[in-house]
Amino acid sequence: MKYLVPHSLAEASELLLDTGNSMLLAGGTDLLVEKRAGRISPEAVIDIKRIDNLDRITLQENRLVIGALATITDLLRYKSLPEELEALHDAGKEFGCYEIRNRATIAGNLAHASPGAEFGSTLIALNAEAEIFSIRGIRNLPVENLYIKAGKTVLERGEIIAKIIIPLRNNSASSYFRASRVNGMDMAVINCALQGFYDNNKTGGLNYRVCLGAAASVPVRLPEVEKMLSRIDGTAARSSEVFSGIKSYLLKTLNPRALSLRAAPFTKKVLAGNLIEDACCKVRERLIK
Ligand SMILES: Cc1cc2nc3c(=O)[nH]c(=O)nc-3n(C[C@H](O)[C@H](O)[C@H](O)COP(=O)(O)OP(=O)(O)OC[C@H]3O[C@@H](n4cnc5c(N)ncnc54)[C@H](O)[C@@H]3O)c2cc1C
Repeated sequence: MKYLVPHSLAEASELLLDTGNSMLLAGGTDLLVEKRAGRISPEAVIDIKRIDNLDRITLQENRLVIGALATITDLLRYKSLPEELEALHDAGKEFGCYEIRNRATIAGNLAHASPGAEFGSTLIALNAEAEIFSIRGIRNLPVENLYIKAGKTVLERGEIIAKIIIPLRNNSASSYFRASRVNGMDMAVINCALQGFYDNNKTGGLNYRVCLGAAASVPVRLPEVEKMLSRIDGTAARSSEVFSGIKSYLLKTLNPRALSLRAAPFTKKVLAGNLIEDACCKVRERLIK
C-alpha cells in the first residue's frame, strides 16, 4: 500500500483522482480499524495532515467554520464556541475516549457515515453545510444531503470535505443526548440532536430542528416531531401531552434496522422518545437562562 503526503488540497484531490482505489487519511480512527479488520484494502492512503491551516476553527460574523483536520479535542478546547452551538460541545464530550478525541476529526466523522456518528445528527440539527473541495471546483452541500446509506456519502472521486460551516442563529439554543451501552468506548445505541429557535423578531413560539442518529441507516430529521414540539406552550400539562404524542408517533413510524448490533428496534424507538424529551427540555432551559 502506498502512503502519499500531499501539501495542498489541490494536490490531495489530484492524487485521489490519479491513484486507483485510494482513500484519504485524517485521524485514522476509522480507516485504520477498517483496514486491520480487512474490510477495506486501499492501494494508497493519502494523508492530509500535512496540509496547512486545515485544523482551524474560526468564528466569523454569522457562522462557525470548522476545518477538515479539526479534532474533537480542538472543538472541546475552543474557547469562543457560541452558546447557541452548545450541542457541539455536548456531542464532543460523549465521543470515544481521550485518545480517540485527540485524533478523530469532525470531517472524518461525517465522511465515514456511521449511522450513529455523533456529528452527523448534530450538524444536521444545526443546519450545517459541508464545503467540498475538488480540483474541478468547490461546492457547498447541506450535511442533511450528504448521506446515501450506512458508510456511503454523495462525495465523488477527488472530493474532500474542506470545511464545515455552521450558521449562527439569533434566539436559539441546542443540545445533544445519546444512549449507549458503555460510556465512552461505544457508538451510540441512538442519539438525538435538537435546535430550538424563535423567529427573528421573537413574536411567534419556538420552532425546532430535530435529528436522530442510529435510528436508521442514515441520520434522520423528523419534521412531524418538529411540528409537534412547537405546540409546547410552557405549561407542564401541555408538554407532557406533546411528549406522549411524540412517543406514540415514533413507535408507529420509526423504522430502525433490525440487524443493529446495539439494540432491538423497539428499544431504539422508546429511547428515541426519551432523548427527544431530554434534548427539548435542555434547549428550553438554555433559552431561558
Ligand atoms: C475506540 C473508538 C471509539 C470511537 N468512538 C466514537 C464515538 O463515540 N462516536 C463517534 O461518532 N465515533 C466514534 N468512533 C469513530 C471515529 O473515531 C470517528 O468516526 C472519527 O471522527 C473519524 O475521523 P478520523 O479523522 O479518524 O477519520 P479517518 O479514519 O482518517 O477517515 C475516516 C473516513 O473518512 C474519510 N475522510 C477523512 N477525512 C475526510 C475529508 N476531510 N473529506 C472526505 N473524506 C474524508 C477517509 O477516507 C475514511 O474513509 C470511535 C472509533 C474508535 C476506534
